Parts: sequence; structure tokens; C-alpha cells
Amino acid sequence: MDGMTQENRQGEATRMGGASGYLTIDLAALARNYERLAAEVSPAKAAAVVKADAYGLGADRVVPKLYAQGCRHFFVAQFVEALRLRPLLPADAAIFVLNGLQLGNEFASARDGIVPVINSLEQWRQWASAAKALGRTLPAALQFDTGMSRLGVPPEDRATLADLVKAENGIDILFVMSHLASADDAGSEQNGDQHAEMARIAAEFSQFDTCFANSGGIFLGKAYHGVLARPGVALYGGAPTAGRANPMEPVVSLDVAVVQTRTVPSGTRVGYGASHVTTHETRLATIAAGYADGLPRSLSGRGAVYCDGIRLPIIGRVSMDSIIVDVSALPEGRLTLGSLVEVLGPHQTLEDVARDAGTISYEILTGLGHRYERNYR
Ligand SMILES: *Cc1c(COP(=O)(O)O)cnc(C)c1O
Repeated sequence: MDGMTQENRQGEATRMGGASGYLTIDLAALARNYERLAAEVSPAKAAAVVKADAYGLGADRVVPKLYAQGCRHFFVAQFVEALRLRPLLPADAAIFVLNGLQLGNEFASARDGIVPVINSLEQWRQWASAAKALGRTLPAALQFDTGMSRLGVPPEDRATLADLVKAENGIDILFVMSHLASADDAGSEQNGDQHAEMARIAAEFSQFDTCFANSGGIFLGKAYHGVLARPGVALYGGAPTAGRANPMEPVVSLDVAVVQTRTVPSGTRVGYGASHVTTHETRLATIAAGYADGLPRSLSGRGAVYCDGIRLPIIGRVSMDSIIVDVSALPEGRLTLGSLVEVLGPHQTLEDVARDAGTISYEILTGLGHRYERNYR
């Protein structure tokens, strides 16, 4: 955090007017997180996974920053994301599409230097025929399923693929890769199982480099690094390993404005469906962010916001555009119209909010709303 107090954030809010919430994205912290991960995997390289608009933080700001930091490998999930990324990056940066080759995108991919992650024999044949039609070699990554059953060439197709790879085919394989399903759980036996399967693949396709670890995988140790790691959430400040101290710096903070305060007597119904009824005189504040801004409805009666380090519980249901919090713990008059409260910041991490909402930090990040004023530092 930059040490800015809520008072002068509030001053800033008044100066700028307009928005009801302020999302601050600390690009210097992002850069330090990239450095931290790159150091962790060295001498392997660190790529960046920037799918879903860089996990909701804004690919147009995040991607150039990571490039400036030395990152040269960028992964998105979908072809349309790769198209949006291409103009943001010099030609020496590679863009990979994790979901693979979609029929109809072959020639646009080839033209723009977008590299498909080949996930099946069918995709391999499609890419090979595009190479033949164009009369040139096309780059690809090869993904294998090592036990997640989501994407990648399944074990029964590996021998066929090995034969295809040996034949003259016009495809330049940059590396072979796979994805870990339980890397955030350092104690999961699935990690060892997938590692063993990846070792068999590396032996069968020994002429190629390997790419294996996501954020969690990086912290499983050297054996998981290959030549290229693919962190996503850790870049953005999410914890790579559940249940351990988070080694990453927070990148996102969120402050939201108070739009109304009041004191209600005992027995007062609060919010939709009257899911909360006060049991004593209560001071309430209505805060201008709801599920349309990415505060999951599952925070109803569960989560909190903070002011001056004091926890202010969410009571009643999360509405589309607002939440109601119990501010009785604050001195009277502390919050007035336009005061800002902390949703994400020094007192409440992404993981805290995710836990209260019954979800993961990834979903909180990618859900961050578009009505906030976004400030990049
Ligand atoms: C999303 C994704 C990543 C990044 O995962 P994090 O857990 O966010 O680090 C890496 N590889 C693949 C294949 C992915 O789909």
C-alpha cells in the first residue's frame, strides 16, 4: 500500500467527483511480483497469464508493464483476447492461446503471430494443414492432459501424436506443456501424480522444452519449473498456495463511498427479504457497491468492510448496487455522505473477501466491476 489515508483518498474523491468507488491498481507492485516470480523460477523464464483482461485488472495497462519488466511470453485463453493483445506488444513477445486452435482462426493466427496451444490431434491436423496451405512453418505449443481432464492431448493419443510430430509437418513446437489441477494445495498427492505423468511426456517428447507450473506450481519447487512457468493470480497479488503466508504483494485496493447513514431502533428490517432484523439500536451505512460491481451476493450477512481498521459487518442481502453495513463500532459521525470505506486494502485481502464469499481470489479479481474509477499507480 502507498500509505495514503482514507481521509485524503476522500479528498481525492471529492476533487474528482463522479465515481462511487475507487479501484487502485499498483503497477509497481505488479512489476515487483513479476520480479519475485522470475527470481523464484530462474534460470527458467516466467511468462504471464493475462487471460480475462489480466484477471480483471486491465490488460492494456498490465501487459506493457510486464513487457517492460522483461516478460516475453503471454498467455490468454481465447483467440479474441490474443487479437486485442497483439497491438500492445512488440513482435518479440509471443502470445499463446490456451484454449487452443478454433476452426476458422488459423490464418488470422498465422498472420498475427498468435501461437495456438494445440490440445488435440484434430487441432494438430488443422494447424498442419494451415502451414501447408501457407507454405511455411507455424509455431505451436503442445499441451498434454496429465490428469485434469480439461484441455490437452489425452494419454491414448500420445503415440499417434509422436508419429505426426516425427513426420515432416510444418509445425515448429516451442515447448510441451500441461496444467496442474491442485497446485495451490502443496500437500495434494495429485501434484506428484501429474509430475510423474509430465516426466513420461518429457521423455517421449525429449527434443522439446517443458512448461508446467502455474502460480501454485512455482512454489512446489524446481522440479515443477521446466523452462517456462505460467503464473497468473500471483502476479496480481493472489496467494499461490492456500493456507500459507502469501509471498506476493497486493496489487489491488478498493475503496467505496458511503451514500447514506442512519440510526435504526431494535426490530428494524434491513435489506431485501428482511433477512436481517436488528436486535438493538444500530447505526447503518449504505455503501455504493453491490453484486453488479463484483461483490458476490454470497457476502449477504457474511462479509465486512473496514474503516480506520475497524470491521464493519455486512448485514442483510447484497443488492445489485449497494450493501448495508453495521457501523455501530465507529464513533458517531465518523462516516458521512461520500466517506470511503475499505473493501480491499491493508485490513482486508482478496483472500479474506473470497473466503467470506465462499469463492476464490480469482473470481473476486475477474469480477471487479466497471463502475469504479480505476487509478493505476
Ligand atoms: C489460468 C491458467 C494459468 C495461470 O494459473 P494461476 O493459478 O492463476 O497462476 C496457467 N496455465 C493455464 C493452462 C491456465 O489455464
